[in-house]
Amino acid sequence: ERSTDSAESTTEAESSTETTEGSEVCFGEGATIGVALPQKTSENWVLAEELFNDGLAEAGYEPLVQFANGGVTEQQNQIDSMVQQGAEVIIVGAIDGSQLGGQLQSAKDSGATVIAYDRLVKNTDAVDAYIAFDNYQVGVLQGEALLQGLAERQGEGPYNIELIAGSADDANSIPFFEGAMSVLQPKIDDGTLTVVSGQTTFEQAATQGWKAENAQKRMDTILSGSYSGDTPLHGVLSPNDTLARAALTSVSQAGKDTPVITGQDSEVESVKSIVAGEQYSTIYKDTRELVAQSIASVNALAACEEIPINDTESYDNGVKVVPSYLLEPIIVTQENAAEVYANDSTLAPLTEG
Ligand code: BGC
Repeated sequence: ERSTDSAESTTEAESSTETTEGSEVCFGEGATIGVALPQKTSENWVLAEELFNDGLAEAGYEPLVQFANGGVTEQQNQIDSMVQQGAEVIIVGAIDGSQLGGQLQSAKDSGATVIAYDRLVKNTDAVDAYIAFDNYQVGVLQGEALLQGLAERQGEGPYNIELIAGSADDANSIPFFEGAMSVLQPKIDDGTLTVVSGQTTFEQAATQGWKAENAQKRMDTILSGSYSGDTPLHGVLSPNDTLARAALTSVSQAGKDTPVITGQDSEVESVKSIVAGEQYSTIYKDTRELVAQSIASVNALAACEEIPINDTESYDNGVKVVPSYLLEPIIVTQENAAEVYANDSTLAPLTEG
């Protein structure tokens, strides 16, 4: 009789809400958690892979963490396969935020919870929450840093600048650009800043696939077309560190002085460059925090609780405003690098000496 009892309770526990000492369980030990990551276009994604694998396993789940280096179709197939393997939660860093509607709908139909990680998924109802650093705020900080750097390093204006944006298929690229332009456009309008190439729209500035070679090629063309002779380039808005380094390579090959340039991600090579006084700024988005917040959401769901949310108005995906948990990005320059990275064992040593 006893064995029957325990067999029954096991079955109940596996099916759904079981009360164990008063606490509910929606899923537990060994539940499969899918994490669909995009391509390795910056260091933060590589770090996320490791942190998700370790953190989810430590919390007792079965992590299924995959990159889609082959592109959108590969990511679609990976999500389908996560659904087939019975994933309770699917965490998605989309390559193309508008191309996953079908897969995420099947995930929802299977009973899984869908969380957009770092990048919003667009034009679908099949997303329960968005966990990210505030992308628009990233752009605002970049725009402000560019103005501050120009004033510090390039003397009095007016200044010649160029604009680089991220990949058009990444939902983050527009808020990055719009946040920055909210600061820069008034200064373009009043003549403080001149975009000498005339390329001021997002479409003109976008960098397909976030690829360094695409940004470098575009900058080469702009420099040879619009900066002949002694025309100086004082500043560049770059949405991330990888593209900032590509632009600096182009500028130095053209024999121009180093412009004030922004970045994002606190990549090792860029932090070194900032400490050395070359790249002007980056953004610190601590991946450990973002992954920890995502795993905390999985734990909440496992306990049949709601995903923690702190913003219900900022991120409209075209179909609905996606309830979000937004973390605060931090601007980093040579001046505050040591302070900002003090608790980061990888980056702190780069600021010493
Ligand atoms: C991320 C950035 C990153 C870029 C390229 C964006 O979605 O938010 O941190 O630099 O992708 O990987």
